[in-house]
Amino acid sequence: MMKTVFTTQEGVKMNAELDFGSTTTIKNEFNVLMTTYETMFNIELNYFYRITDDGYMQLAYSTDDALEIKAQYKLQFSTKKEDIIYIVHQLIEANYLYDGFPTIKDSPIFTQQEFQQIINDIKKSRSTEKEKASQKITPLISLLKQHQLNPIPTGFNKNSWVANCPSRGNHFIQIVTSNDQWGCGYCKRKGGKEALEKWLQEIKSLQDQKRLTTMLKELDKGSIQTKSTLKWWLNRY
Ligand SMILES: [Zn+2]
Repeated sequence: MMKTVFTTQEGVKMNAELDFGSTTTIKNEFNVLMTTYETMFNIELNYFYRITDDGYMQLAYSTDDALEIKAQYKLQFSTKKEDIIYIVHQLIEANYLYDGFPTIKDSPIFTQQEFQQIINDIKKSRSTEKEKASQKITPLISLLKQHQLNPIPTGFNKNSWVANCPSRGNHFIQIVTSNDQWGCGYCKRKGGKEALEKWLQEIKSLQDQKRLTTMLKELDKGSIQTKSTLKWWLNRY
């Protein structure tokens, strides 16, 4: 039977929009690639690769019993190993901001040094791009700094930043400084500097309403009862 891909799309799966298909009937077509330690919890992950007859390299990892395809690229180098290095590079590059850099436990494909070289290559290109980004502080970046949302360059390219989401949720917003736009996939909000100012104002009024309710309750008991309420009241404008 021909080994084929489910979709001809290329990339690293970061959300449900990119679907490389199920592995249920093709599990035995995957070869062992490596075992890594990942995230601050040093989770052990087993990676596998599959080369299709229609010319693609696929990378999958197993969690529990499930084998999930995480990345797929057209074969483009003269050796299998170069195509594997490329896809591993892409996968780590797409995830390191969230998961940090993995370390390798063992692999029939890579030596420790070869794996480390992939990491070093990513770090090197990232630091060059971060440096370029830091030299261009746009009005949107200034606004984020001013509101202590901690904007940092991602290193993906010279216009790519992330910052804490103003919703105070535990996630990032993405910023592109070439046109000074931001977006939060989680909160489903996006726009330019003005849209961010507006959202920050909305969030502030919501917080103010909560604070005001708390203060009224405290006043009901005779006076402002807590230092945090007093501090907010005095600094509210
Ligand atoms: Zn958000």
